[in-house]
Amino acid sequence: MDLQLDEQQLGKQLFGTVAELYPICRSITGDGVRETLSRLGGIAPLTIHEVPSGTEVFDWTVPDEWHIRDAWVKDMRGRRVIDFQRSNLHVVNYSEPVNRRMSLAELRPHLFTLPERPDWIPYRTSYYQKNWGFCLSQNQLDALPAGEYEVCIDSSIEPGYLSYGEACIPGESIEEVLVSCHICHPSLANDNLSGIAIAAHLARQLRSLPLRYSYRFLFIPATIGSITWLARNETVVPRIRHVLVLACLGDAGPLTYKRSRRGDSTIDRAAMHILRQQGEHEVFEFSPYGYDERQFCSPGFNLPAGRLSRTPHGRFPEYHTSADNLDFVQPAQLARSLVTCLQIFQVLENDRTYLNQKPFGEPHLSKYGLYDSIGGIAESPAFQLALLWVLNLSDGGCSLLDIAERSGVEFRMISRAADALASHGLLREAP
Ligand code: ZN
Repeated sequence: MDLQLDEQQLGKQLFGTVAELYPICRSITGDGVRETLSRLGGIAPLTIHEVPSGTEVFDWTVPDEWHIRDAWVKDMRGRRVIDFQRSNLHVVNYSEPVNRRMSLAELRPHLFTLPERPDWIPYRTSYYQKNWGFCLSQNQLDALPAGEYEVCIDSSIEPGYLSYGEACIPGESIEEVLVSCHICHPSLANDNLSGIAIAAHLARQLRSLPLRYSYRFLFIPATIGSITWLARNETVVPRIRHVLVLACLGDAGPLTYKRSRRGDSTIDRAAMHILRQQGEHEVFEFSPYGYDERQFCSPGFNLPAGRLSRTPHGRFPEYHTSADNLDFVQPAQLARSLVTCLQIFQVLENDRTYLNQKPFGEPHLSKYGLYDSIGGIAESPAFQLALLWVLNLSDGGCSLLDIAERSGVEFRMISRAADALASHGLLREAP
């Protein structure tokens, strides 16, 4: 897997996808998800699955489908003082229908604000408990006079389907790398659209590369999506070797990685190796909270699932508010996040274990044109050091990633050194 990417161009494409999908009102089910998946189909080869409401998936049941057409609160002069058409965050996601007049005092328990950020609209959901409500800025609430209001949520919650998307990119092996992201948030840019855009464009990039692993990208609603996918794919799960969950990858913060439950799986080590080389970053230990790593790392599966983010969820004030908008994500950050994913995949793709074929003393490298001599070829000293590390540690017990970690030499250099040594018959892949 060799990469030559124009990051500026890539950043524009990723941001373009985020901006295109931003206005759509998504939820864990419904037409917003379908619309999103159908547009992603223009980027990656996507199969859309529809799982009927009521389907039992482990301890859960696929919920009824939510549809929202319009919602508003009107004052007595007929003016929309809260209007779903202005922001889909104004409606509590999965609100049941309501259509009646009530006083502000009666309406008040159904209104949600963020007093500490009086300009922002919070994002609220009520998926599994029947409820309804509106979200609005504190300033907007403060401006509402007491009195009567006409309240309407034109929604329905009825048996239908849970929709999710899957893009499979075949490689040489049936062993798989699984990449997942959430598709259930409405107009929020970093959470989830950054992950969605990066996953879709990654799938597109991988299609044109020769691959050792097969790759499977999941575009699924939070929690119920991964549980549904796991329940329907018990025969695929044993083929999964590495899992990467993508979330919140477009903000200005440095990259962060959350380790899998196992803590030292290859995906953990590959991700941490790449992040270390990039400079500022942070690594978090596993916890059973967060995104779909919770489900992939549940004890019945215990898959090696790590999560790549920038500033993690809950650690930026814009999280789950109207301020997580298109100004909050940066094209260059999106592009760098995608390139980092590809670099992590490169480690997975090229991590092999070799046996030194001339282990008695060092082989005479200059004889093979592999070692700089006076007036000889100008390979860098770093490459020569990489050759020595690979030869020394290739005793069948160390993979190239082990060697990169122990030597502190970039994996890419170690991998290139191994290729050079193997092409001269000095290394052979361990059985
Ligand atoms: Zn979220």
